[in-house]
Amino acid sequence: MRIAGIDITVDWSLLIIFVLITTGLASGLFPQWHPQWSPTTAWLTAFAAALLFFASVLAHELSHSLVGRMNGIEIKRITLFVFGGMAQIEHEPGRWPAELWMAIVGPLTSLAIGILCLLAASAGTPAADLASIARVQHLLAGLDPGRTLLLWLGQINIVLAVFNLVPAFPLDGGRVLRALMWGATHDLRRATRWASAIGQGFAWLLIGSGIAMVLGLSVPFLGGGLLNGIWLAFIGWFLNNAALMSYRQLLTREMLQDVPVSRLMLVHFEVVPPQVPLDTLIEGYMLRSDQRAFPVVDRDERLLGMVFQRDIERLSPEQRRTMTVRDAMKPVEQLVGARSGDDVLDVLNVLAQRDFNQLPILENGRVIGLIRRVDILRWLALHGSPKPAPGARK
Ligand SMILES: [Zn+2]
Repeated sequence: MRIAGIDITVDWSLLIIFVLITTGLASGLFPQWHPQWSPTTAWLTAFAAALLFFASVLAHELSHSLVGRMNGIEIKRITLFVFGGMAQIEHEPGRWPAELWMAIVGPLTSLAIGILCLLAASAGTPAADLASIARVQHLLAGLDPGRTLLLWLGQINIVLAVFNLVPAFPLDGGRVLRALMWGATHDLRRATRWASAIGQGFAWLLIGSGIAMVLGLSVPFLGGGLLNGIWLAFIGWFLNNAALMSYRQLLTREMLQDVPVSRLMLVHFEVVPPQVPLDTLIEGYMLRSDQRAFPVVDRDERLLGMVFQRDIERLSPEQRRTMTVRDAMKPVEQLVGARSGDDVLDVLNVLAQRDFNQLPILENGRVIGLIRRVDILRWLALHGSPKPAPGARK
């Protein structure tokens, strides 16, 4: 699905949340609010509520993307997954005000949706009635499915806005914090380190509270319970990983900036003609080299395709005996290539996004090199901050 030129991807994990929300509403909350509803009404309303919930998560992510685009940051893809959404940013914002606006617009969007839904749900109800608890309960029971849905959607969007505003990088609130520290120190790396440390601190707080709840303790504001505890610890663990990863990504990005592919590409590599039988490819090429992919070239050294170890592993012994390289290769039209002048950082992004291990470097239809993920990682290891020697004191 594409909206405004941005690919929208739905992760399988979303299905779990979708089922959880629908069942939770249809068999828990809605019957509690409306004992008189038929199961069909409850399930249909719950289904619609879950759908609209994801639509509002999508609106939240789209708002990040659109403000990003206004600031010259292209967003290629939005992935909806178990914890909501994530916009895939090609580059980090270059200036702190851009980062600030891009981060804060998401929670503001959720808040706006939340308030609008609540207003729509309570439209026409005298304010005096809303102020009295007894009447609210009475009103709640009398709400039609549409208004019930709006009421739930309104409050869940406000929860979403508040959760995302928690100053734990890489949540939106953490990004706001990082932008402010970046503005104050004019040092993106230091701001990211601090924001990431605060994010990890918050994550460990969640993990600790989760464990305490599992052990039967009651935590202020969060309550207790085994399931809640496990859930909380899981979110904490996820946030901790995300905070660590964002900082490492920034370091990688800084190190690889402006490094051309030509400095890291493999120039001594084997190519294979298309008519070679797979048996020979395995015995004569793959087992004698550490290459996991071989460019397939014709007599004029033009690239016809690439043959990957990954694909060969999936073939049956029978197929390996009878097929040739041409049968097993990925043809050149399906390949992604790079040029020797490209930035390694861009190549690394492509490798990560498409889950490739290498790209051929092309010049006039000929392969002049291979750029591999392992070589980029080796370069990072050799150019990064020194690793402590085993057993060395800090
Ligand atoms: Zn957000």
